[in-house]
Amino acid sequence: PNRLYLQVHLPEAIEEARKSNTVLAVLFLDLDRFKLINDSIGHAAGDEMLVEVGRRISNALGERGVVARFGGDEFAILLDQLESTQESEAIATRILEVLGKPLWLGGRELFPSASIGIALWNPRYRLGEELLRDADAAMYRAKAEGRDRSAVFDEAMRAHAIRLLDLEADLRRAILSDSFVPHFQPIVRLTDGKVIGHEALLRWNHDLHGALPPSEFVGVGEDSGLIEQVDWLLYERVIGWLRAPGEGYVSINVSPKHFRSDDFAERLLGLLDAAGADPRRLRIELTEVALLDDAPRALRMLNVLRERGVLALLDDFGTGFSALSYLHRFPIQALKIDRSFVAGLDGETRAESLALVRAILALAVTLGIDTIGEGIETAVQRDTLMELGCLFGQGYLLGKPKEDAVWGHVPLA
Ligand code: C2E
Ligand code: MG
Ligand code: MG
Repeated sequence: PNRLYLQVHLPEAIEEARKSNTVLAVLFLDLDRFKLINDSIGHAAGDEMLVEVGRRISNALGERGVVARFGGDEFAILLDQLESTQESEAIATRILEVLGKPLWLGGRELFPSASIGIALWNPRYRLGEELLRDADAAMYRAKAEGRDRSAVFDEAMRAHAIRLLDLEADLRRAILSDSFVPHFQPIVRLTDGKVIGHEALLRWNHDLHGALPPSEFVGVGEDSGLIEQVDWLLYERVIGWLRAPGEGYVSINVSPKHFRSDDFAERLLGLLDAAGADPRRLRIELTEVALLDDAPRALRMLNVLRERGVLALLDDFGTGFSALSYLHRFPIQALKIDRSFVAGLDGETRAESLALVRAILALAVTLGIDTIGEGIETAVQRDTLMELGCLFGQGYLLGKPKEDAVWGHVPLA
C-alpha cells in the first residue's frame, strides 16, 4: 500500500469509526537518520532497509491495521477498531521494539530506529488529511524529544502551532511598521570600568506582549526566513546611529544562516558607506557554527570585512563544537566567553569553571586574541575573571541592555 491507498481508505475508516464509536488512530513514522545510511552505504542498501522496515512494521502489527509507504523513509499506519487510546501507544512501542533489532546491511550491523507521531480521530476531524497533518506534527515532536520514540498529538501542540503561526504573521506586520528597537549593553574594560563598546541586542516592541527578547521570536524568524529582514533593519539603525560621535564600537549579532549569504559583506559595507559611518566602529558577533559551516568562504568574508576595519568577535565561545585548529586561521579580534562558564565561577561548579576559563584564556593569549567575559552578574565573577587575565566583560553587574548607549566609565565598586 502507498499514499494513494491511504487516501482512499482513510475516509472509509473515519466513517466506520464515526458509526461504531471505536477509536481510530493514524501513526506517522519517519526513520531516524535515514539520509546518513543512504549517503554512507548507498541507495541500494537504503532500499533494502526500507523493505525490511516495511516487513518489520507489518509483523509488529499482525492482523491489526494497515501500513502504507508514504514516501521516502516515511510510513503511515492506520489503526482502526481500537478499544482505547492507550492501545495505539502500546502498538507504537511494539513497532519501535521490533524495528530496533539489529540489521545486517552492506557488511555492517545497523540498529534502525524511528520517530512516530500519533493522531487520534475525534469528531472535529472532517478530512483524513487533517489526521495525517497532526500525526506528522506529533512525529516532529517525537524527533525533537530525542528520536526513537512516539508522541501523541494533543491540544497543546495545536495551540503551540497556532501561536507560532500568529507570531509569524505578527512578525511580518512588525517588519512593515518597523517595531524593532536596538538595545545597547556596555562592554567594559574590567581594570578601570571604561566602556569600550556596546553590543546591540534586538528587542521587538510588541503591541500586546511588550518588549520581547530574541528568544521569543528568533526561532520563528529563522524558520520563516524573516530574521534576515529584521536583522537588516536593525543593522541599518545601528549604522545610522554610529554617525554620532563616540569613541567605542558597536557589535551586531549575525546569525549563521545570514552569514552564509554571498552578499553579506558587500551589503554591510554598502550600508556603512551610504551612512558615512566609520567601519572601525562596527564589529560583528559570530558563533562557531557560522565559521565552520563553510570555512574557506567564512575566511574570505572575514578578510574582506577586516580590510575595511570591521572586526569579528566569536560569540558564546565554548558552547559550540570548537575546532581549535581553525581559531588561529580566522581573523578574530576577541572571544566572548559564554555566560555558562562565567556563571559557574561562583557556584558549586567553581573548580570546573575555573579550569575551563583558565584554559580558554591561555589559548586566547597564545593566539593574541582578546577575551570578553559574558553575563557577569556578581563581583566575584568579575574579580575572578580579572585575576585569570580576562581584560573585558559584559553583564548585568556592569550594565543592562538599554535603549541608549552611554559611553564613559561604569562604577566598579
Ligand atoms: P548573545 O549574543 O550571547 O547576547 C547576550 C545575551 O545575554 C543577551 O540576551 C543579553 O541580554 C544577555 N545578558 C547580558 N548580560 C547578562 C547577565 O548578566 N545575565 C544574564 N542572565 N543575561 C545577560 P538577549 O538580548 O535575550 O539575546 C539573546 C541572543 O539572541 C543573543 O545572545 C544573540 O545570539 C541573539 N540576538 C540578539 N540580538 C540579535 C540580533 O539583532 N540579531 C540576531 N540574529 N540575533 C540576535
Ligand atoms: Mg552576542
Ligand atoms: Mg553571547
